[in-house]
This record gives sequence, C-alpha cells and structure tokens, in this order.
Amino acid sequence: MSQVFNFGAGPAMLPRAVMEKAQKDFLNYNNLGAGLIEISHRSSEFEEVLSDCDSLLKELATIPDNYKILYMHGGAQMQFSAVPLNLLNLSSSKTASYIETGTWGVKARKECSRFGRSLTFASGAKSGFTEIPKIDPAALEPESAYVHITSNNTLYGTRWTAFPDFGDIPLVADMTSEFLSRKIDISKFGLIFAGLQKNLGPAGLAVVIVREDLVGSALQQTPALLDYKTCIDSHSLANTTNTFALYMMSLVLKWLKQEGGVDVIEARNELKAKIIYEVIDASNLYTGVSRQKDRSMMNVTFNFQNQDLLAPFINQAESSGLYALKGHRDVGGARASIYNAMPIEGCEALAQFMLDFEKKNS
Ligand code: PMP
Repeated sequence: MSQVFNFGAGPAMLPRAVMEKAQKDFLNYNNLGAGLIEISHRSSEFEEVLSDCDSLLKELATIPDNYKILYMHGGAQMQFSAVPLNLLNLSSSKTASYIETGTWGVKARKECSRFGRSLTFASGAKSGFTEIPKIDPAALEPESAYVHITSNNTLYGTRWTAFPDFGDIPLVADMTSEFLSRKIDISKFGLIFAGLQKNLGPAGLAVVIVREDLVGSALQQTPALLDYKTCIDSHSLANTTNTFALYMMSLVLKWLKQEGGVDVIEARNELKAKIIYEVIDASNLYTGVSRQKDRSMMNVTFNFQNQDLLAPFINQAESSGLYALKGHRDVGGARASIYNAMPIEGCEALAQFMLDFEKKNS
C-alpha cells in the first residue's frame, strides 16, 4: 500500500504513529487478550483512557479549573441543539444571538429557533462568507443568553483571528475545525465545542468545555443525554459512550503532547498554511477564496481562473497521492484541509504539484 497525503475536511487524516499504535492494540489491549472496544466502558482500563483524555485536554488547551470537560454523542451538530437547550434559560426571553460566518453558523442559528428566539446578530453572507464581518458589540441584543460564533469556517476557509468580547454575555464557539491547532484563551469563552473528526480522532463525538456557572438551568424539555448536568454528574458515562473514539482521542492527545503541545503545533500549522498560500498569491492560475486577513490555517480554499482546470487538477493530484482536494459543493473550487496531523511534507508536496500544474497549463 502506498501512503497518500489526505487533505479531506473530515473525517480527516490522523497522525501515522497513532494509527499504527491503534492497529497494534486493536486485538490485544494492554495484554488483556481482548480489544479495548470489547470491554466495558466502566472497566478500570477505560477509566484510565477517560482520565487521560481529561488531563491531557486540560493541559494542552490550558483549561481553567472552573470549566468542565464533557464528551457527548452526536458530533458537532448535536451541540447546535444542546447549546440552546442548556443555555437559553439564562435569558428571560429565551433569546440567543448568532454570528453567521458560514453554513455551520446558519445551521446552528436555525436549530436554536426550535427552542427559543434566535437572532442573526451579524452575517458574512454579503461577502459570500469570504470574510469575517465587522462586529459592533454595542448593537447586541442585551437579552441574549449567549453569542454563538464559528471560530474556523471549514467550507470557506476563514477564521477569527481575534475574538469579540460581549462582557457578561457568554461567547459560545464551535471550534470543530481548529480546536488545539492554535493557542486559545479559554477564559474568554463561556463554552467551546468541537466534533472529534478533524484534530482529535474519529467522528461521532464532541468535546464540550463549559464554564461551571452556566450549567444547571437547562430547558425543561431537554433530553437527559443532552443535559450538560447529566454529563457532568456521570463523567460523560450516562450511557455507553463511544469507547473507541475516546481511546483514539487519548492517543492523538498523547501524540500532540509528544510533538511539543499547542505552541509547537501552531507554529508548524502557520508554516504549513504559508507554503500553500504563497503559491496561490504568486499564481495567475489559482485564486484564493477567502480574504487574506481572515484566512484559515486549517482549510486552504482556492479556485481556478479557468473552471475547466478544476477536474483535471483534482484527478491528477489524486494520481500523485494528494487525496480529497475537491472543495465543498457550496463553495466549489479546491480545498486543502491541513489539520494538525498533516505533516509539512504533505503541504510541500501539494505546493510543488500546484506549481507544476500551473506550468503545464499556462
Ligand atoms: N461545525 C463545523 C465548523 C464543522 O466543520 C462541521 C463538520 N464539517 C460541523 C460543525 C458538523 O459536524 P458533525 O458532522 O460532527 O455534526
């Protein structure tokens, strides 16, 4: 089998060392004579996995003591329901404000409207979501229970470089496509969530980091398994969790720690993105999708002056071992997702391929 560089947006490439360790452990975990996914989520072996996840996340993301870490089913989108169900009661009129910087923010706001009043406080739709809109905190509806943002926009390849501040109104961030890729001051947020399938492990679960004082006033109709209090009280084991996904995350977190942690990975991610953006900026064939000031380090989006070149680009890249570069259907063009696990060599290989392709086609 020849290895490819996988630029898929998620489920995404995981560190090679993690995949190899999982393969080795799969049939015989810790000399048990059984695989981890075959044993109880209440076993001491799994308890250790869970406590590794807690302590590594706390250390790597520098999570303050007054925040809880939860592992919840349903990936990131289930949090589009869980967040309003748990937090809308913080507002007497059950109002929440959303900043829409892409499709995921729009979806989150629509989901909230099932449970209360959800407002579009700001939107990047006018620019086709190619930039982060300017925010005037003074214009915020003061009754907002929270303000929801998407910190990195996976489809369009934009991100917030600096986060807005709304005083006592908590900021909620969907960090699915960039969690642990750069330093974040958690204390500036009321709640952060991230689906696992980009920087953390397999799809299907989400990590939720929530400030303690925001928990405990869920709407009456909140299903028990979506109530943050139930999750906290049961250490995320109110029902049988996805033990495999959490085990994989524990390996990814150990890998990240071994690599040097978030500071080191952030510097590497900046370099990786630069390698590809430099090719785009110097090119007459490729055009960047997002505005330079708001460019994502995780999802590099670009298009072609000549649309006829898109399909041959994707096909030839794939034949060269550069996999899954097609852009999202809502955006078109190409997208290179370069999460933490993508090595610098993958970005260099892509940059070289792009240069060669341009030479051949201009
Ligand atoms: N939010 C963001 C920013 C995403 O990138 C994605 C998935 N690409 C989602 C939410 C949805 O994740 P899930 O499929 O786990 O619900």
